[in-house]
Amino acid sequence: MLPCRSANKEGGQKALWRCRTQVHSTGSDSSWEGLVRAAILTLVLATACAVTPRSQQQERVRSLMPATVERSAVSQVTSIVLRVRARVAEDYRSQVLHPEETISAQVARLNEYTEPAMGVRLELTEVRPWTHRAGQNLTESLGALETFDAGDDVDLVLGWVSGLTVVELSLDKLGVARLGGRHAVLRAVDDRAEAEAFKRAFTALDLDEREDLSRARRRHKETTLLLHEWAHTLGAPHDGHESGCLFPMYTEQQAGFHPDTVRVLATLAEVQHERPRPARAAARVRDALDAARPGLFIASELATWREALDARARNAPEAGGSVLAPAQSNPSLEAVREALRAGNPTRARALLEPLLASGDPVALELACVLDLQTDPKTAVPTCRRASETPNASGDAFVRLAAAALAAQQPETGRPALATAYQRLLQQSAASPEAWLRFVQVAQSASCLTLVEQAAPRLANAADTTSVLNWARSTRRWVGLSSTVRTKSEPCEGAFVETFRTAEAALQERRFTPVALAVVRLKDEAAGAAGPLVLECERAFMQGQLALAQIRCGAALSADPEATLAHYLLGLIHEVLNEVPRAIKRYVRVVELDDSVRDAWARLGAAYRRTRNAGALKDLSDRYQARFGQPLR
Ligand SMILES: [Zn+2]
Repeated sequence: MLPCRSANKEGGQKALWRCRTQVHSTGSDSSWEGLVRAAILTLVLATACAVTPRSQQQERVRSLMPATVERSAVSQVTSIVLRVRARVAEDYRSQVLHPEETISAQVARLNEYTEPAMGVRLELTEVRPWTHRAGQNLTESLGALETFDAGDDVDLVLGWVSGLTVVELSLDKLGVARLGGRHAVLRAVDDRAEAEAFKRAFTALDLDEREDLSRARRRHKETTLLLHEWAHTLGAPHDGHESGCLFPMYTEQQAGFHPDTVRVLATLAEVQHERPRPARAAARVRDALDAARPGLFIASELATWREALDARARNAPEAGGSVLAPAQSNPSLEAVREALRAGNPTRARALLEPLLASGDPVALELACVLDLQTDPKTAVPTCRRASETPNASGDAFVRLAAAALAAQQPETGRPALATAYQRLLQQSAASPEAWLRFVQVAQSASCLTLVEQAAPRLANAADTTSVLNWARSTRRWVGLSSTVRTKSEPCEGAFVETFRTAEAALQERRFTPVALAVVRLKDEAAGAAGPLVLECERAFMQGQLALAQIRCGAALSADPEATLAHYLLGLIHEVLNEVPRAIKRYVRVVELDDSVRDAWARLGAAYRRTRNAGALKDLSDRYQARFGQPLR
C-alpha cells in the first residue's frame, strides 16, 4: 500500500466551488516534476452563474466531462482471465441500492479497457457479504478483509465499503491495496456533494443534462479507482503520468494507463495469474519492473518496493532495513528469523517479546520494523526504544518518525526527523537508499528545510530535482519563503499543516478556525506571506473584494512568489471584469507553479474572451507539451 497524502476540500458555497489537492511523493519522470500538484478546480463562479446563458453553461459542462477510459486503440486477444470475488461490507450495502449490479458494471467497464489494451479480463465469480463496517482508516479495512477472506481459491478479493461524503481526489484514500497483494478495498464513489454543487452552478440546464454529467463523472472515477488499486495488487507502484490511472491523484482526464505502464502490467498479470504461485514470483515481479523504462514509476516508491521484493526473493519476509541480513549468533534471534522465513510475522513478534526486556538493540530494531507493518501506534514506543539504544542509526530515527507520523503524532515525528538528519550526516557510510527513505518521510511531514538539505545526497539527480521542486512549490503555495525564519526549523510541518487546515476550513466557510490559524502562523513565522494570503482568501469568500485585494497585495509585498495570492487576485479581477489584469496574474501563477491546471484553463478562457489568438495558440502548445492533452 502506498501513501498518497492529500488535503482537499469541497465547499458548495455561493461564490466559489473548488478542490485543491496537494500530493507529496518523489519521482523522476518529467511529467511528475511538480511533485506538489496544486490542482485547483474552479467549477464556476456563481456570481457569473446567475447571468450565464444556457449555451455557456453547456460549454462548461462539456469541459467537465471526464475522459473515456473504456476505449482502447490497441486490440489484443484475451489470454489471461483473473478470477475475482467481490465482498460487500455492511456499510456499502446500506449506501448502495443494488450492490451486485453496481459492482458487476464496474468490473465490466474495467474489462472494456483491459481486454483490448492488455489481453486481461477480470471474471467476477461471486458477490458475497462481508461482515465489516469501514471507519476512516481504509488500511484497517484491508487487514480485516485479508483475515476475513484469504482468497486462496481466486486471484483477487475486492472489498467494497461505503463512500466518503466529501470529494476526495487522492486515489489511495478512495481505495487501498498492498503492492503485490491479493486484496483491495474500494470505497463507493459518493457524488452527492458534487451533484448538489452542479445543481447550484448549472441553473440553466435541464435535470437530464446535469445528471448525464454527474453519471459520467461517477463512472469514470469508479473505473479509474478500480484500475488503480488493481494495478497495485499486480505489484505496480505509482507512475508519474498525470493522465494515466496509476497517477496518485484522480483527475477527470485520466484514460487508462500510459502505454509503457500497460506493457509492465501485462507481464505482472501473468505472474498474478500463475497457479500454484511460482516460488520465485517476487523475483519475476522485480524483473518486470526492471524491464520498465527508467523513470516510468515514481523513483522513491520503486526503490522501496524493489528492496522489499529482493528481501522476498531471498526467501526472507519484507522487513526492510539491514537487520535481517547479518548472521547473528543469538539463538533466540535465530528462532525469530526462522519464523519470519516461514512467513509467520505474528510468531516472530511473539518470540521477540522476551528479548525486548533486555534491551537487545537488534531485537528492538526488528520489533520496530514488524510493528511498523502492523500498527503504527504500537510501533511508536517500540521504535522509540530502538532509537534510544547506544549508537542508534539515522534509520532508527527515520523509522520512529514514520511510526509517529502514521500514528498522527507529528510532535514526536518532526523532531525525530531532525535527529535522523544529524545522525545520517555523522554516518559516513549512510547509503543513498537511507537518504531516500529519510527524504520520503521528511516530505510526508512537510519538513521543507530538511528535504532541501538532504536533496543533494540522493543518488539520482532527477530525484534531487523533483524534491527540490516539491519544496519550492510548497513554499510558494503556503507563503513561506526560504528567507523567513520559523520557530520550528528545520521542520516547518506545523506551519504547512496549519495553513492547509485553514484552507480546508475556508472551503467549508468556517471562518473562526481561519482567524486562529492566522494568529498561529504569524507567531510561527513572523513576516511570512501565508497568513496574509489566508486573510485575502477569507475576505474574498466573504465578498469583501477591496479588503481581499489589500491583503493579497500585502502578501505579495512579503513574498512576490506567493502563488495563491496571484491566483486569488486573478479571480478577483475576473469578478470585477478586469480581464487584462486577471491575465497578468494567471500568467504569473503558471510561471510560479505550472502544475496549477486551473490557472492554465482560466488563462486560456481569458485569451479567448479577449480574442488573443496568438497567445492562446502559444498557451495551448505549452499545455499540450506539459500535460500531454489539449487545453480545454
Ligand atoms: Zn495508489
